[in-house]
Amino acid sequence: MARRGNSIIKGLNINTIITGLNKAYADEWLAYYQYFIEAKVVKGIMKDAAIAELEQHAADELRHANMVADRILQLGGTPLLNPQDWFTHTNCGYEEPKNFDVVSILEDSIKGEQCAISVYSELADLTRDKDIVTYDIVSQILADEVEHEEDLQALFDDITEFITDIKKNIN
Ligand code: FE
Ligand code: FE
Ligand code: MG
Repeated sequence: MARRGNSIIKGLNINTIITGLNKAYADEWLAYYQYFIEAKVVKGIMKDAAIAELEQHAADELRHANMVADRILQLGGTPLLNPQDWFTHTNCGYEEPKNFDVVSILEDSIKGEQCAISVYSELADLTRDKDIVTYDIVSQILADEVEHEEDLQALFDDITEFITDIKKNIN
């Protein structure tokens, strides 16, 4: 635990920060696995573009899990030790892919990113001016989640537009 490092946290209970970070940690692992398995099972039009994006996002979520775990340890906490705890602590849950179609997979993932944006926005509000180090980390992750949402939405728009064009040309 970073004693001097933690002494600069003001007006905020460290356990409150650790609890919030552990919830985000659970979200990151579930998001990682969701992207990992989506990239494996996705089917349909322009799926190669989707796979590239899903695999990149999986790697980002795992990197986020690393960043959050390291900060929990600095604060004197313990990152969740049992994967079963991911389901009891998660904010955003886990969206099991039921329909493997690229459009459905992208819709599920966009929902997940929108939830992640809310979670990190709240953690930024909690720590702003109180715990600068956590604030910096959650702000970096928040920027990634905003980029993730945008990437997926842009791909979703391209694919649905492409499908609409094809339908028009058939008729
Ligand atoms: Fe993430
Ligand atoms: Fe993300
Ligand atoms: Mg991306």
